[in-house]
Amino acid sequence: MQAPARSLRVLFVAAEMTPLVKVGGLADVVAALPQALVERGHEVRVLLPAYGAHMTGGSTRLMSMTMSDGHTSLAELRRPDLPCPVWLFESPAFAGRGHHPYSRPDGTAWPDDARAFGEFGRVAAGIAAGTVLPDWQPDIVHCHDWHTGLAPAWMRLEPNAAASVFTIHNLAFTGRFHPRVLAELGLPESLNRPDMLEFHGDVAFIKGGLCCADELTTVSPRYAQEILTPEFGNGLEGLLRHRRERLTGILNGIDSRLWNPASDPLIEHAFDDTDLTGKSRERVRLLRRWGVAATEDEAVLGWVGRLTRQKGADLLLDALPELFQRPLRLVVLGSGEPELEQAVAAAAKRWPGRFLAHSRFDEALAHGVYAGADMLAMPSRFEPCGLSQLYAMRYGTVPVTTAVGGLADTVFDADAIADAIADALGLASFNATGFLMARATVPDLIETVDRALTWYRDQRRWQALMRNTMGRDSSWTTAVVAYEKVYESALARRGRGLHDGNPEMNA
Ligand code: ADP
Repeated sequence: MQAPARSLRVLFVAAEMTPLVKVGGLADVVAALPQALVERGHEVRVLLPAYGAHMTGGSTRLMSMTMSDGHTSLAELRRPDLPCPVWLFESPAFAGRGHHPYSRPDGTAWPDDARAFGEFGRVAAGIAAGTVLPDWQPDIVHCHDWHTGLAPAWMRLEPNAAASVFTIHNLAFTGRFHPRVLAELGLPESLNRPDMLEFHGDVAFIKGGLCCADELTTVSPRYAQEILTPEFGNGLEGLLRHRRERLTGILNGIDSRLWNPASDPLIEHAFDDTDLTGKSRERVRLLRRWGVAATEDEAVLGWVGRLTRQKGADLLLDALPELFQRPLRLVVLGSGEPELEQAVAAAAKRWPGRFLAHSRFDEALAHGVYAGADMLAMPSRFEPCGLSQLYAMRYGTVPVTTAVGGLADTVFDADAIADAIADALGLASFNATGFLMARATVPDLIETVDRALTWYRDQRRWQALMRNTMGRDSSWTTAVVAYEKVYESALARRGRGLHDGNPEMNA
């Protein structure tokens, strides 16, 4: 692997990071990518909101920062389970958010999001400019999703700010607020225009990142193409097409030490691709949680993910009457939209012993499902990258997914003609890793589950497929080099954003 051009100081700015606070895949990336960068010799810090008392332990040092309107403080957290020091931004707006950064207990968004994440962006920009922490100025500020979108916008107002990179993990979340928040945050009214933050009469924080960052990335090559179209662009496709030269799709990796069936402390029976006995035992253990005995002829179809329309949870639920005419059991771990949670509870009552569900966030059970299921259902309508299918594959659980975004980039259909021929001839080029649905519809889901069940019935072929999925390289090795390239081009273009070569357009 080629050595990095030079060692860089990189500040990650994000709203989630495993194991401190996790809602979805973003948290895992914000832990694993810094780890990979540190291993390449870069100096990384992560700036995160301090959501509550659970984000402590290890050694903590308070750092005082001087902002234009007074002092604020960051707590520096160092712990053995963190890849680098983490800087926690302490603000009353975040302090009461407990374990959920985005929603109140009734499921609605926190009302002070604009102020909270606006100030968060401002602190990031202060660090980027070297004004608030004089002994540590980053070369690169790497922002993730809308919560951090104002950081690149604030950075444009600083004369000596670091270069900025903005990563789109999910374009569906834009952080839309009334334009009055600009004045409340002390941002100039000039940002309220279509080529900056303005979005259909509101301001959208994500546009700060999309318009002002020096480089943009998203989490798979396919999603990078998809978001240039009206179907997936969420009204931002015109802007993204305009910046397409600066947009790179880099496929997420996974932390293959944390997600390793041979050494995972969250499962009881270790296994690897040379001996799958432990996986059969995990299957028994998984079903036993619901008091159900495992049978060989019935496949276990798992689900680990948010219960949302994006993920196709409604499709899975609508398909149940048909699916349960097949030899299948479903294990569903997920929380999300209230009506989908209710539908899951109703399904568990209607099909006791066959539809097994837990509507909560449970990291240990997630590992248990990846280890114990035979297949993973992921009928997403869109999927920027998806980590669940990568974790499932690592544990020999074969994904049944839609051919969109990162799913299309990571799952190769076992019935694709070339593979079928290779398999029939016994050729080594058999590289299938799962089953792809052409569209996110109930009939496509049923048809694709049927194809998977046909393979499952032939255990010789099924085991070959399982070993293939387990052998897929999902490490960060390639991605980290791609990010280094993006960082270098951001440094070369520092401070230009959307309005490259047109100073009048600058804020
Ligand atoms: P997204 O980020 O869109 O939610 P990803 O597939 O990229 O989807 O990442 C989802 C991550 O969240 C995975 O690590 C998955 O294991 C985890 N996850 C989702 N729901 C749950 C849950 N209910 N309990 C535990 N982990 C979950």
